Amino acid sequence: MQRPASVVKELMENAVDAGADQVTVVIQDAGRTLIQVIDNGCGMSPDQAVLCFERHATSKLQTAEDLQNILTFGFRGEALASIASVSHLTLITKTEQQDFAVEYVIEGGEEKSMEEIGVPNGTTFIIRNIFFNTPARRRFLKSDRTEFLRIKDIFTRVALAHPDIGFELISDSKSVVRVSPSKVENGIDLRRTATLLGADFSSGGISVICEDPAIQIEGMILEPPKETDAVSEQIYLFLNGRPIADKLVTHALKEAFFEVLGKTLPIRCVLYFSVDPSEVDVNVHPRKDEVRFHNSSLIHDLIVDNIVLALRKYGIGP
Ligand code: ADP
Ligand code: MG
Repeated sequence: MQRPASVVKELMENAVDAGADQVTVVIQDAGRTLIQVIDNGCGMSPDQAVLCFERHATSKLQTAEDLQNILTFGFRGEALASIASVSHLTLITKTEQQDFAVEYVIEGGEEKSMEEIGVPNGTTFIIRNIFFNTPARRRFLKSDRTEFLRIKDIFTRVALAHPDIGFELISDSKSVVRVSPSKVENGIDLRRTATLLGADFSSGGISVICEDPAIQIEGMILEPPKETDAVSEQIYLFLNGRPIADKLVTHALKEAFFEVLGKTLPIRCVLYFSVDPSEVDVNVHPRKDEVRFHNSSLIHDLIVDNIVLALRKYGIGP
């Protein structure tokens, strides 16, 4: 766990995995003093609430096939153990079957208390004073502004990855961004996307659709800016429902743009890729944002070809 944003990412993804349809992230001082993630998902029994902090505690592996899921979805059951070891953590959780929630307090990995309290179904993680016992890592953090922008970026990526879930980010008691679950059935919810990424994304731009058996792509690319426009690159990539920042995919994207434009301009896009989960390893990088396609040259070329096609079809070219 490197910084507050990595904690936010792990807790948000756990909330998504728990089947929540509303996830709220509350931070104070860019996550330094408080990171709280509230979900209305399946919750945990009192036993699970204790077990989830064991290393390799994942409950997401129930069958032999699930071993493949360690590779494909990145469940390793390590996140909570490492967050608990460097913070003051409170877990409040309740399943539908339980009459009461448990409130479980851990400091620096040591159990402090466990109580029954009355709250609705779901899970809340409260992380205070991250890195209180690892001053070197605390010193490694950048300014509040930078750490806040990292959290906001992670929040945005997870929210874009899950259009069917409502998300809110509250920072220093102010609501920074809030989106509802999308009601759009086919294609991309432009309003929701624009709320998360800015008004430029509301008009949609160039749509990309690819239905190859090896890879499906759906998404949109904004019209390339004029050379004089001051826009910064905004590349949002998702693979099988998870945000990625993959070198091969980014390279393919840039190559396609260069092929059509003959020059390099900032790229702004939201692209959702799906491949058969057994065709990709997601655990090659601890942050899980680099992936490894088994047939990487085929995937690379299919991405290039389909982006080139979409750009040309839209009338972009020298
Ligand atoms: P992983 O997500 O890789 O399984 P984690 O350390 O992130 O490992 O979480 C360990 C386990 O704790 C999960 O497998 C899940 O059973 C449980 N868990 C964590 N967060 C939640 C949550 N928000 N709601 C319900 N269960 C959770
Ligand atoms: Mg997890």
